[in-house]
Amino acid sequence: MANYRLPPVNGSAKAVVLTCVDSRIPPLEMLGLAPGEVFIIRNAGNSITNDTLRSLQICLTVMECRNVLVVGHSSCGMRSSGGLDERVTGAVDVNALSEVLEEDVADARSWLGFYEPHEREWAMGQADLLREIVKKVMPGVMVIVHSALYHLEDGRLEMMGQPSQK
Ligand SMILES: [Zn+2]
Repeated sequence: MANYRLPPVNGSAKAVVLTCVDSRIPPLEMLGLAPGEVFIIRNAGNSITNDTLRSLQICLTVMECRNVLVVGHSSCGMRSSGGLDERVTGAVDVNALSEVLEEDVADARSWLGFYEPHEREWAMGQADLLREIVKKVMPGVMVIVHSALYHLEDGRLEMMGQPSQK
């Protein structure tokens, strides 16, 4: 690429973004950042999964990140299955997949992680969950977890306040 520039060393990023795999989300552009300035973790539905935590642990410990932003987005396909779980289970051998994963994924709806509340509540809830997990596994380390909602309609990133303490 003509205007390509070598990003800074990997360790210079001090923040992490967790967002959805939705191809319409441009993580760097929506934050006004360049390659090398933030770690990006993506999965369907911007969810706290085992693999999210695996990647996060690298960012929070080795890379010493102290800020995490969970970004949900409007019109997320994970909000209501719309038959997606049947399409997934219809296209794969669920027993073979369970064997590969060493985990029973017969309840595809649960395994895929479809969620019922709106995107806003989901992102805030996942941020809430992450705060609790970090507090438990990294006691004494101050990690600030924010949440935001990306609006596909106009490209707006809406920062959300901390959910009320429960
Ligand atoms: Zn999504």
